[in-house]
Amino acid sequence: MNNIYNYTKQDLENYFLEIGETKFRAAQVFDWLYIKRVTSFDLMTNLKKDLIKYLKENFSMDTIKLVKKQSDVDVKKYLFELYDGNKIEAVLMNHDYGNSLCVSTEVGCNMGCRFCESGRLKKVRNLNAFELVLQILKVEEDIKERVSHVVLMGIGEPFDNYDNVMKFINIINDPKGINIGIRHITVSTCGIVPKIREFTKEKAGVNLAISLHAPTDDIRDKIMPINKAYKIADIMDAVRDYIAKTNRRVTFEYILLRGINDSEECAIKLANLLKGLNCYVNLIPYNETSHIEYKTSPKVTINRFYDILKEGNINVTIRREFGSKVSAACGQLRSEQISGKEN
Ligand code: SAH
Repeated sequence: MNNIYNYTKQDLENYFLEIGETKFRAAQVFDWLYIKRVTSFDLMTNLKKDLIKYLKENFSMDTIKLVKKQSDVDVKKYLFELYDGNKIEAVLMNHDYGNSLCVSTEVGCNMGCRFCESGRLKKVRNLNAFELVLQILKVEEDIKERVSHVVLMGIGEPFDNYDNVMKFINIINDPKGINIGIRHITVSTCGIVPKIREFTKEKAGVNLAISLHAPTDDIRDKIMPINKAYKIADIMDAVRDYIAKTNRRVTFEYILLRGINDSEECAIKLANLLKGLNCYVNLIPYNETSHIEYKTSPKVTINRFYDILKEGNINVTIRREFGSKVSAACGQLRSEQISGKEN
């Protein structure tokens, strides 16, 4: 049975028209789901009894179950169980500009980035749109506040689950629903070039972030297997085209791994690669995990890297370190659960 949270307002309108109802029913159902937040069709009291019965027979409202929560000062980490027993996680970060939720897009991930905990555990399946939507609803229910920003940087590669991700964005952006501003949504990809090109043609406004992590193919090949399929030059071509067509600034994420990609030479190469591009670089101090041998770069190295980019006129920030105490790096909580390690 299809889950009601899988439906965009447009899909619901089409559905109601098909069954001989008015399309206004879609707005009513959306209002119950996303404004009033009821969790049963029986509570949708402005719908006729017959229609409620029909909806109950044709849609599920299955949810995702919060099984573990870890809190720190500005960060909360949620572990959810899905209908089939699989687990995913979402991380809420409290910024001065609002609540930003990092959502997972897949159970596991096939991209195999060497430094990433999620990639250690192979992809089991895509998340459905409803399982993405419910991460937001469940977290809002917990904090009793709005999530204002959404980043697709949890477990999984969003562009490896493209259609569900786009549907999810459509649902949460609906002004008569959860109403997360399109510019408050960021999709992060390891660089699946054909999908970057497809994304360029979508409704404008969603932010694009590229997990670059290396200025040369030599280095990137070693840490990100996806680079065997799509080279840095291919990514840069697609990004230039995206910027030209959308007029949006692109973010490049760059994890600093000690002795791997954090040298002055790397910084200079990165500055040259990005020169003149409408972009900014987010330097990420590596969050060490017990299973992976990579180490965080020392503070001085990070600062030197930052300075070189600045001198090269690149917009750059160093990401604030959130949640190393609560296993906030991508995939860590799920991975601990699967390996049976508790902290
Ligand atoms: N697959 C997508 C989104 C998920 S990863 C992508 O690659 O962009 C989200 C970001 O977290 C990526 O930039 C990823 O490289 C980074 N990341 C993964 N493990 C990390 C760790 N241990 N410490 C810091 N950042 C990490």
